[in-house]
Amino acid sequence: MKTVPLDIILLGPPGAGKGTQASTLVSGRGMVQLSTGDMLRTAVRDGTPTGLQAQAVMAAGELVSDEIVSGLIGEKLDSMAHSAGAIFDGYPRTRPQAIALDAILAQRGRALRHVIELTVDEDALVERITGRYSCAQCGEGYHDRFRQPRLAGTCERCGSTQFLRRPDDNEQAVRTRMAEYRAKTAPILPVYEARGLVSRVDGMAEIATVSAAIGAILDR
Ligand code: AMP
Repeated sequence: MKTVPLDIILLGPPGAGKGTQASTLVSGRGMVQLSTGDMLRTAVRDGTPTGLQAQAVMAAGELVSDEIVSGLIGEKLDSMAHSAGAIFDGYPRTRPQAIALDAILAQRGRALRHVIELTVDEDALVERITGRYSCAQCGEGYHDRFRQPRLAGTCERCGSTQFLRRPDDNEQAVRTRMAEYRAKTAPILPVYEARGLVSRVDGMAEIATVSAAIGAILDR
């Protein structure tokens, strides 16, 4: 018998640790991460029409249109195999996207079970984001100050010596992304709060502490 999927949103400004926590839930619980940022970066890399449309908007730290990202989410949900649940990471980011997500889930007999907000200190976030980079081959994440590979210049997971920085991880784009979060994304929280879905976790704590707090919410 199929179990009801545990569909959740990880919400929080850029650099709050949504992607890191989503990876832990994927490996630990068999959930699937749906990151519109990752989907868009793939589209840009592959030069698809969506990617061509999104590229400059993303580099500036502004938001891609609601229609594009909600379309990507619907397609992804339809193409993925049955899983323990979906983790929406970086989506929804606006009120129309939140409304679209409810409809997308309802059409598929699913519903949101939790909205977990990672709370953070903005100035610390700028340092977190502008220092981060990842392995060009396997995607493992590193940081100039907080997590260098044990053997300098060599990925600990796959041994590659090629690394990448996101083009929007510069201070100016980060400040724009945060302003977008404050203006357009934070206002969707009260809607979820009224439905009793929101839990808050301190995103400035150690990664393992944050993971444990999220796990406790999902097991409640
Ligand atoms: P992220 O990886 O979530 O930080 O997203 C990187 C960039 O992709 C954002 O700054 C936006 O330009 C774009 N993007 C990702 N998700 C969305 C979304 N749900 N709505 C609009 N734009 C998005």
